[in-house]
Amino acid sequence: MKENTTSCAYSIAWRGYCGKPATAPGRCADHAEVKCQCCGEPAAGECCQTFTQFVCGVPLCDKCEDNGRGQHRRKAEFDKPTWPDGPDGMPY
Ligand SMILES: [Zn+2]
Ligand SMILES: [Zn+2]
Ligand SMILES: [Zn+2]
Repeated sequence: MKENTTSCAYSIAWRGYCGKPATAPGRCADHAEVKCQCCGEPAAGECCQTFTQFVCGVPLCDKCEDNGRGQHRRKAEFDKPTWPDGPDGMPY
């Protein structure tokens, strides 16, 4: 999909793009200041990772991903085997 700079392109989990009139390139007033929960860069949209009953929904930039467990990391670091789960981690 081509980005439209006159309407907000912030992606809402399960609902597609926000679509409100943009006050900044590709962002409405509500979403212009939203930062990625993982790295602090401007968020591209909500995390659409789903769990049993709900959607993750935290703001993420396009460089970060959910690992399927509600944890977020930069994609470049995604292959690293260790997660900050504590000494033992989760029995996964
Ligand atoms: Zn918006
Ligand atoms: Zn990020
Ligand atoms: Zn997530």
